[in-house]
Amino acid sequence: MAVTIVRLLAMLRHEYGDPHWWPGDTPFEVAVGAILTQRASWRNAEISIQNLKSSGRLSPGALVACPVAELEELVRSSGFFRQKARYLKAFSEFVVSAFDEDMERMKTRPTEELRDELLELPGIGRETADSILLYALGRASFVVDAYTYRLMGRLGYGQLGDYETVQAMFRRSLRSRVKDMSDLHALIVIHCKDKCRRIPDCPGCVLDRVCPSKRK
Ligand code: SF4
Repeated sequence: MAVTIVRLLAMLRHEYGDPHWWPGDTPFEVAVGAILTQRASWRNAEISIQNLKSSGRLSPGALVACPVAELEELVRSSGFFRQKARYLKAFSEFVVSAFDEDMERMKTRPTEELRDELLELPGIGRETADSILLYALGRASFVVDAYTYRLMGRLGYGQLGDYETVQAMFRRSLRSRVKDMSDLHALIVIHCKDKCRRIPDCPGCVLDRVCPSKRK
């Protein structure tokens, strides 16, 4: 039988400690980071965030007012900078028009309603929407990504099903505990970058006792 999700979380926590995800001084900064890190390393997204900060553009109103060419330059380090500038504008316009520039006000909306609204915005897919919901707004919306599929597949979960099915499995197992959900997503990413890479580095892996895919 495959290791339970609760035990997996305990083992990864024991190995890596508290991941303290997601870095960001404000919910808006976390949301901007979730958009900028799409198809980009966090290091490159961080450079863009610093550019936005030092130019005084890291707020919904300032981003809406920012000329497109200037915004593209500010986020160039994240790659796909033209699209991402457009996505940031659209997200900021949403925060300005629907929540009077205040992301705290988003917290008054039911999660599913908010998720549907986020998914209607350009450049916001399920992974980004759930990253915003979980890490910026503290909602029980587990983030499923390629690392989740890789690790759970190797741990014997077989065909995991579609995004929402996997998300529901984590939500059920973790009983919608937000801290556990945010930690486990982060720890899976950390573990897949550290040990369970595309070609896994199994010797010394903290999960080797429970992993049917371990290599000698
Ligand atoms: S034992 Fe190997 S395949 Fe299994 S989780 Fe660890 S690194 Fe991945």
